[in-house]
Amino acid sequence: MIIVMKTGAREEQIQEVIQRIEELGYKSHVIRGTQRTVMGAVGDERGKARLQSLESMPGVESIVPILQPFKLASREVKPAKTVVKVGDLEIGGQAVVVMAGPCSVESESQMLETARAVKAAGATVLRGGAFKPRTSPYSFQGLAEEGLKLLDLARAETGLKIVTEVVNPMDAELVAEYADILQIGARNAQNFALLKKVGEVGKPVLLKRGMATTIKEFLMAAEYILSEGNYNVVLCERGIRTFEISTRFTLDLNAVPVLNKLTHLPVIVDPSHGTGHWEYVAPMAKAGIACGADGLLIEVHPKPEEAQSDGVQSLKLEKFRRLMEELRPLVEAVGRRI
Ligand code: PEP
Ligand code: MN
Repeated sequence: MIIVMKTGAREEQIQEVIQRIEELGYKSHVIRGTQRTVMGAVGDERGKARLQSLESMPGVESIVPILQPFKLASREVKPAKTVVKVGDLEIGGQAVVVMAGPCSVESESQMLETARAVKAAGATVLRGGAFKPRTSPYSFQGLAEEGLKLLDLARAETGLKIVTEVVNPMDAELVAEYADILQIGARNAQNFALLKKVGEVGKPVLLKRGMATTIKEFLMAAEYILSEGNYNVVLCERGIRTFEISTRFTLDLNAVPVLNKLTHLPVIVDPSHGTGHWEYVAPMAKAGIACGADGLLIEVHPKPEEAQSDGVQSLKLEKFRRLMEELRPLVEAVGRRI
């Protein structure tokens, strides 16, 4: 249920309503808008008639049910777009945010060379996996903490923010010590223990869509993180599995406007995993911006032919620089900046 407070409701009135929500056994989530405060009361749907009684409390304007199953993620609870703040960086604001870097962190020279190049080209977040979720147990699994240290080194030199994946709830705190944004990969999109854990840890989360999850399931996954009190979630469309095998996955750009309608959370697009081939990355990156994405996640490597993972879909540094140049007029055409 959504408890809508009157414009100008006093803080004590808000606190009394929160107390009552919790006495009734619900979790309260307070969303302070510019006009008014609304509260999501989330919990067992069966008791919602009792929440209706809050209507008579001072300062309360109305009580309305949340129709979508994803409550806190829905535009019903929060019509205004969420801007996720990562230090001084905003995701979901007017600027389009570009996150770029290799699939896996491999060496100091690889990370520093990539970080310098993507920063010079206009990216603001450096990516790179230190813990890799690989389809085969025999493939490179990542450098673990040594990889996190290399990301930290690249951040110290360039000032870029760091996004890196966490694959296991046991490593979440360690990864959070180094990362600015915790990535949940497609293969873990419905790992509910991991989703709850990153919700508790509280750092901003980049949640990738599972390759076989519907948009509703994707938003329910985000709801797991939000329901732990972590509202700093960025969604990432990275391609789904279809019958088409000319590309690695099918980048579902329909999801961008659909998500923008259903949720207030920022949405970014990953054309690297979405296509699986470097030649298709630039056109689909542009398409992502054109259809309303708040940012892009792009794999970039100084020597893709030597990459430990996803070399085929990684852009060389110069190709990435050129793509960023080509994106500029497009970003302006959709009323944003880069
Ligand atoms: C990655 O970002 O390198 C990655 C493993 O992505 P996904 O989880 O989308 O496959
Ligand atoms: Mn990858």
